[in-house]
Amino acid sequence: MSLSFVIIGGGPAGVSAATNAARLGAEVTLIERDVLGGAANLWDCIPSKAMIVTGGELNQIRSSAGMGLESMDPHVDIDALRSRISVMTAKLADSNRRLLESQNVNLVSGTGRLVDDHTVVATTASGEQTFSADAILVSTGSRPRIPDWCSPDGDRVLTTRDAYPPQSMPEHLIVVGSGVTGVEFVHMFSSFGSKVTLIVSRQQVLPTKDPEVAAALESDFLRRGVQLYKGARAVGLERTEASGVLLRCDDGRTAEGSHILLAIGSQPNSEGLGLAEAGVQMDGPWVKSLDHHLRSNIAHIYVAGDLSGKLPLASVASMQGRKIAEHVMGLHKVDHKHIDYEKAASAIFTEPEIADVGLAEADAFAEGRKVRVTKVPFGSQAKALINNDPRGFVKIISDPATGVVLGGSIVGRHAAELISVLALAVTNSLTVSDIAESLFVHPALSEALAEAAE
Ligand SMILES: Cc1cc2nc3c(=O)[nH]c(=O)nc-3n(C[C@H](O)[C@H](O)[C@H](O)COP(=O)(O)OP(=O)(O)OC[C@H]3O[C@@H](n4cnc5c(N)ncnc54)[C@H](O)[C@@H]3O)c2cc1C
Repeated sequence: MSLSFVIIGGGPAGVSAATNAARLGAEVTLIERDVLGGAANLWDCIPSKAMIVTGGELNQIRSSAGMGLESMDPHVDIDALRSRISVMTAKLADSNRRLLESQNVNLVSGTGRLVDDHTVVATTASGEQTFSADAILVSTGSRPRIPDWCSPDGDRVLTTRDAYPPQSMPEHLIVVGSGVTGVEFVHMFSSFGSKVTLIVSRQQVLPTKDPEVAAALESDFLRRGVQLYKGARAVGLERTEASGVLLRCDDGRTAEGSHILLAIGSQPNSEGLGLAEAGVQMDGPWVKSLDHHLRSNIAHIYVAGDLSGKLPLASVASMQGRKIAEHVMGLHKVDHKHIDYEKAASAIFTEPEIADVGLAEADAFAEGRKVRVTKVPFGSQAKALINNDPRGFVKIISDPATGVVLGGSIVGRHAAELISVLALAVTNSLTVSDIAESLFVHPALSEALAEAAE
């Protein structure tokens, strides 16, 4: 008889685990309470990038004079934008459904919870269904963290989930939080023409990123008139008659705007899942000490995606799902590599776009590690000039003795696509010569990678 695998949560982690385990022969049930593809599809990756791409098109059209075109003055149609996003989300949910159905995954629309370590109950519109499981995956994701000094109302006080797009386009948006999510929203709304103020708790936006990369973004924000409150923490909020909201910071400064958007991280969806009742050891809202295979203290109960507390990225969640499926089906005994989170590529969809992978230059120096750093600006590349966008650079960090590529950063147009070359190199210990010896296309931005690898 085939192994029964029950998954709670159909985001990137759950969908990937389900399709891979079913392909390998498991009898899979996937319980999802909302939309297949998860928050990634409905609230996070897809709508935010759709809005950013629309804003990017606006910026391109605004700079059309530099391309030999008459300049135009386009405006945003907020209803058309909203419907573009919902059509896209529905299409992606549908293609997930088709994929899962083609693999004979039993899809259950409902809310799942464990009743013991081998039993999952789904509460559905037509009542409760009980499933007995040899292995269980909990991949219920996360939601925006709300600070105690304000309550989002979906009107003027927004979380990221209220912003696709908001009811009215903000005249002046205050963004709290200057990590990846915060800066993407700054870029998005300033492209739409909103005035934006960004509250930066440290002295640098993107505090965990290479300072040179963060500086490139800061200078673009300043060029666009974004106001930066550096070294300020938001501590209080009032609604005002005049402008909408008034934000108070711990250093005494205040910011007035029409809307405020919170981008201060997320919290796990672990309530009501029956984890502790099933014997899973918890550490507050998180599952305690997952092993390399993402198993909890109960060996057949796995945790993946944002709930695992590893790297909160959809790409990582999907990979975790695949690895768990392989482990459940015993494939790890044959050819299994653990996920190396240090080698995950990530991108920030701003203008210029930012992407990095592996070792950062600043971290190498902080560790006193000898590295070779080569940097090529896009300004010297034919394709960047053709694109009328010479901003940014490619930076490759390699081992001076062996030439092995240890990491890299790319700032500039299509950085999120271009970083794949460096991700492949970092994951497979390729050398700078492997990149330099590859015949890339001309004219293409990837030529900067080949040059930096020489
Ligand atoms: C604004 C924003 C933009 C982002 N952009 C990117 C990006 O560009 N690229 C990237 O890689 N990452 C991005 N991320 C991160 C990414 O969205 C998450 O890392 C990813 O969604 C995590 O996937 P997951 O499978 O853990 O969970 P989710 O995508 O959160 O899915 C979990 C699913 O579980 C369901 N669920 C919860 N509880 C239950 C229950 N009891 N029963 C049944 N179903 C349940 C939920 O309905 C949901 O569908 C972004 C995040 C944010 C906030």
